[in-house]
Amino acid sequence: MPVYSIIIPCYNEQEVLRETHRRMTKVMQDMGESYELIYVNDGSRDKTGEILEDICREDRNAKAVMFARNGGHQIAVSAGLDYASGDAIVIIDADLQDPPEVIPEMAKRWKDGAQVVYGKRKKRDGETFFKKFTASVYYKSLNKLTKGMVPRDTGDFRLVDKQVADVIRSMPEHARFLRGMFAWAGFKQEAFLYDRDKRFAGETHYPLKKMLKLAADGVFSFSVTPLKAAWLCGLGWVFAACFLAFVLIVCLLFGVHGGSWWLAALLMLLAGNVLICVGIAGEYIGRIYDDVRGRPLYVVGRTLNFDREE
Ligand code: UDP
Ligand code: MG
Repeated sequence: MPVYSIIIPCYNEQEVLRETHRRMTKVMQDMGESYELIYVNDGSRDKTGEILEDICREDRNAKAVMFARNGGHQIAVSAGLDYASGDAIVIIDADLQDPPEVIPEMAKRWKDGAQVVYGKRKKRDGETFFKKFTASVYYKSLNKLTKGMVPRDTGDFRLVDKQVADVIRSMPEHARFLRGMFAWAGFKQEAFLYDRDKRFAGETHYPLKKMLKLAADGVFSFSVTPLKAAWLCGLGWVFAACFLAFVLIVCLLFGVHGGSWWLAALLMLLAGNVLICVGIAGEYIGRIYDDVRGRPLYVVGRTLNFDREE
């Protein structure tokens, strides 16, 4: 069993993979302990698969899990966790935004007793103002909703102990927000400050739609506050209706006829409010449905360089 397992999810990363492998290998060899680099090919449509085959042929420390279809970043990392056998497991992006050179420093913290060393971003190079702004608003809100459980400015870049990885492996939920799941697991956690670089090459595979899905998973998998907020909305409307009834009675007493336009507007608002509440409940029901169907989290086409070849 290697001391370190490095999980590298890859989706259409043909431009960066060779450089990633070169830099990862240099760092790990300098550390002088056994390691495995687990590339999870998340159903890429470019030459990622071929490049990984070459890399695995040339280097026995490299292993690959090839998905039969795209499952998404969080699912790819989850698969990597299932296949990793190291005592310490590092999760790192393939695009070199998280510098592999800081891994020895993280490993040192682990040897000093930390069981989760999570990367906390000092600066975010190469990200748009929109992404920085939305990330800041989102993490502030998530922090409130989860009562400070998910630390701010952290992504999935981290080193975790085998014991913590076992807890995550035992969590079968389909809507996976890994940084929240790690935070939930507890254990001795330490932040590690680092500068997040620009993407080495290629472009982001997290378009707005995928980002919104991840953001929604973070909220709905870790907080039932939105469901409770529906209660508050409903109560607010009951009070508003009582107030309206009172105003109408007073108007009638004084022989004044209210206009019907504002009533129509009020009705539309009410209908909107009800639909929003149904939608919020739907977010939870959809996730329950995903879980009760019990489908596997991911579909593996084949694996390379693992002892149990498929
Ligand atoms: N990724 C993946 N599956 C996807 C999308 C992304 O495995 O469906 C991987 C991608 O190859 C990279 C990491 O997840 O290693 C982060 O993705 P990306 O760099 O595109 O996101 P960003 O850093 O822009 O948020
Ligand atoms: Mg990236």
